[in-house]
Amino acid sequence: MNQLAIHNPASAALITQVPADDTHSVAQKAARARAAQPLWLAVPLDERKACITRFRAGVVAQLETLAALMTSETGKPIRMSRNELNGLLGRIDFFLLEVDLQLQTETVFAEGGMTERIEHTALGVVANISAWNYPWFVGCNVIIPALLTGNTVLYKPSEYATLTGMAIAGLLHEAGVPKDVFVAVIGGGDVGAALLAQKIDGLFFTGSYATGAKIAQALGPRMVKLQLELGGKDPTYVCEDADPKAAAESLADGAMYNTGQSCCSVERIYVHEKIHDAFVAAFVDAVRGFKVGDPTLEDSYIGPLTRAQQIEVLDAQVADAKARGATLLCGGGRLHGPGNWYAPTVFSGVDHSMELMREESFGPIIGIQKVSGDEEALRLMNDTRYGLTAGVFTSDEARASALLSQVRAGSVYWNCCDRVSPRLPWSGYGDSGVGLTLSTYGIQTFTRPKAWHLRQA
Ligand code: NAD
Repeated sequence: MNQLAIHNPASAALITQVPADDTHSVAQKAARARAAQPLWLAVPLDERKACITRFRAGVVAQLETLAALMTSETGKPIRMSRNELNGLLGRIDFFLLEVDLQLQTETVFAEGGMTERIEHTALGVVANISAWNYPWFVGCNVIIPALLTGNTVLYKPSEYATLTGMAIAGLLHEAGVPKDVFVAVIGGGDVGAALLAQKIDGLFFTGSYATGAKIAQALGPRMVKLQLELGGKDPTYVCEDADPKAAAESLADGAMYNTGQSCCSVERIYVHEKIHDAFVAAFVDAVRGFKVGDPTLEDSYIGPLTRAQQIEVLDAQVADAKARGATLLCGGGRLHGPGNWYAPTVFSGVDHSMELMREESFGPIIGIQKVSGDEEALRLMNDTRYGLTAGVFTSDEARASALLSQVRAGSVYWNCCDRVSPRLPWSGYGDSGVGLTLSTYGIQTFTRPKAWHLRQA
């Protein structure tokens, strides 16, 4: 059997090896999930909800162990691992609260012996190929509503968050979700590709644009519901009427939290020329205040990059920005020693000729560009192939609203950033993907509306 090696990104040490799937075992698992689906759909909703409630209790009971496990394989600073698990509880509560209404059959017409109804039924067998950066969030955004609405789930955690993925599976099974209803598929991209070849009714993917495009191509002729949650190059504009220090502190956190490895990390900052210098000084101060170090320690804020390959991406962006005349204010390279360490890096004097301002960095690095006013800021914010989130810092709500309504992004922020709510849909424009999770729409997306036309004889 194939083995998947799991390394600790903070030290590069081997943590363990786990048995990985191959084409044959993936096909067997998919067949089991297919056979189990009608049985799971027949389980009353209250019982499916009870399983998820017990899963939630399992997460609470083992929160410290689960946080430590996630930190060991992803390098996420321990405080942030705990935050993710605590944040997950609110998402589960939201789905539990809303699912009944979303599954209720609607009578939309009843007249002269004719009745029309919409039934919300499960898609069937859902495959979820997931990312490592928030493995509990992005996994459970799919897994929980998919299971609640009566789907069976084939879940492939990222190869960089496999132990967490196995822990999710273990807790769901302990909570009473049958083993063939929720099936973990273990391995890297080849195993993900094998999953695509199975008979599935929906493919829900979180990851990079490059992989998303391959998946879209593979599934193109297959008429499988496809949802792709991809990367971003998320901009924020700081107006001259904003408090430069408060905005800088909020945005430094938005750019560097989780070592800059959030899909909605702040990745580009535009600052009005009138407060540019004050903002930049406060921003660099805030970044210098972030403690870089062992992610298992309580006070570490910046950990290692999860994937060693990303160091090359960051190095290339740094070299390109320097070559094109940007000013390096702090950081600028890898930190030596074992593990994937990169110094928090801030550039000013950047422009859109630089990769740093165009392509997702996914690391602790940010460019700050001076702008003359709203028109230039808006043009630059929209000068991107992505469109996940965007923000404006200003004391003037009407100005923020006028700007944000013209920005092409799935989520927009006024005086805040890097924020996700279970009550709001999470989606992107352009190469940030298609489809959505979270909110009531993120429950409906796992259902198929079936139209009933009923005439009394
Ligand atoms: P990735 O694309 O490298 O991998 C994602 C998953 O795809 C992994 O499970 C991987 O094994 C699998 N995979 C790789 N090749 C495959 C193939 N050919 N066929 C099928 N599956 C394949 O992405 P990543 O490094 O895990 O995640 C980082 C990216 O995810 C960033 O771009 C980030 O912005 C994005 N992301 C987006 C959101 C969102 O909600 N929009 C959330 C989190 C992360």
